[in-house]
Amino acid sequence: MSEQTDVLVVGGGPAGATAAALLARQGHRVRVLERERFPRYHIGESLLPSLLPVLDVLDAREAVEAHGFVRKTGAFYGWGGQEWSLGFDEPGRPAAYSFQVVRSEFDQLLLEHARAQGADVREETRAGRVTFDDDSGADSGAGSRADRTRRAVEASWRGRDGTEGRIRFGQLVDASGRAGLLARQLHTRRVHDVFRNVATWSYWRGAAPLAAAPSGATGVFSLPDHGWLWAIPLHDGTLSVGLVTDKRSFAQSRQTTGGSPQTVYEEAIARCPLLAGMLSGARQTAPLKIETDYSYVSEVFSGPGWFLAGDAACFLDPLLSTGVHLAMYSGLLAAASIGSVLRGEVEEDAARAFYQTAYRHAYERLLILVSAFYRIHDGRDAYFRRAQQLSRRDQAPLRLHESFLNIITGVEDLHDSRTDAVDAFLRTVRRPVNGRTPHGLAGHGTSDLLPLPTTPEQAAAGLHLSLRPHPRLTATSHPGGVVRPE
Ligand code: FAD
Repeated sequence: MSEQTDVLVVGGGPAGATAAALLARQGHRVRVLERERFPRYHIGESLLPSLLPVLDVLDAREAVEAHGFVRKTGAFYGWGGQEWSLGFDEPGRPAAYSFQVVRSEFDQLLLEHARAQGADVREETRAGRVTFDDDSGADSGAGSRADRTRRAVEASWRGRDGTEGRIRFGQLVDASGRAGLLARQLHTRRVHDVFRNVATWSYWRGAAPLAAAPSGATGVFSLPDHGWLWAIPLHDGTLSVGLVTDKRSFAQSRQTTGGSPQTVYEEAIARCPLLAGMLSGARQTAPLKIETDYSYVSEVFSGPGWFLAGDAACFLDPLLSTGVHLAMYSGLLAAASIGSVLRGEVEEDAARAFYQTAYRHAYERLLILVSAFYRIHDGRDAYFRRAQQLSRRDQAPLRLHESFLNIITGVEDLHDSRTDAVDAFLRTVRRPVNGRTPHGLAGHGTSDLLPLPTTPEQAAAGLHLSLRPHPRLTATSHPGGVVRPE
């Protein structure tokens, strides 16, 4: 016999914990299945200032503030032969800082918060196959594709202690991260050609701070011939140091150095004088970790009875540290959409259209920004050349033009839809307005590029977000009554 819940959330990372906390707080029955026992390790330590408003909606900001994470007040770039330092405390910006977090601690804090709000969180419990209405049980490619239009109704689960069962749900939030439970079952995930990268990283103790940077800043350093490095100071006294490079350069470096990933990593650090200086008296305290091919997007973000949130839907190159922001942002959008459907305020098709449009816009805005960032690198190496060229090609299937207009309105030359969105973005950010660059390639300070769609002007599919007393969807064009799809 199946158990039953209003909302099933698969994955207790930032996306799942956000959706679960917000929905449970509204009185809905929420079950979270998380395959690990928290605290569990995770990469993704540098958070954007734009996350603070989401923590406010969650009522979790105080707990995060009190935890003692490093306060990140800016970023430092040694990029393309230039060095520049950014402080977040520019006048007119909503948040002047963010956090560098040890993810095991940050994620546990959010998951405990969801539990405290009433979510029934089951750790060490892995969700299995999702069943759809009229599901024959066959797992053929064609059958799986057909499932995209059927209603998701039930999931199987298995506990680490050997127990297993099935649970029926009204709505499913798949927040399973890179594992991508539904995207894999439905074959909707497409890997981005543009960022077919390898990341290797580890932790160092005894590193010197970056003298020229604002306190707690992330350091980002491009290498002259391939890839870039990050340095993120953490409150446990370690420095997270990572190398990102494309697969081909990584393999070549292994050949030329005749060594292991660790050798390639060390050799890259040695070629970055600023970082090598910071690490000269430090020692590496953890074995090297590796991740490959991590940039992708799902063809659809939502279907009947299901929403993909966070990395389960899409993942962008980590250059601008956007992952946790997108995870929590989409967790919030999913909670608002599902809550409005469960209360009968909005028809499900309309809520899904809102979710799909709003989350995709946020993702595509960041894709433009990351691509632009790579394009201003004037190095002649394969890595940057490839990132620049392919970023144009990757634009083709996406509605980047629309997303660009969503970033910056009133840019006349963009009304020609053949305009290259990344070029147009670069032209605009380089043109100062009132003596000040409007957005700049602010990178880690991109709070104004990632607003929550809370005004009618930011409406997606005719709906926008209202945040209080709880996140819900409000009709922009149909005041009152149940909102139907446009
Ligand atoms: P996750 O945090 O991955 O959570 C998913 C959860 O689902 C996991 O706990 C997992 O155990 C669980 N799960 C999976 N499958 C199942 C299942 N079948 N049943 C039950 N549970 C399941 N982001 C930043 O913001 N800043 C950074 O500096 C940054 N740096 C990065 C560097 C690298 C090299 C990479 C690869 C990523 C980086 N990111 C960064 C991205 C960030 O790690 C992710 O975007 C973020 O963790 C996404 O959160 P999530 O909740 O969607 O998924």
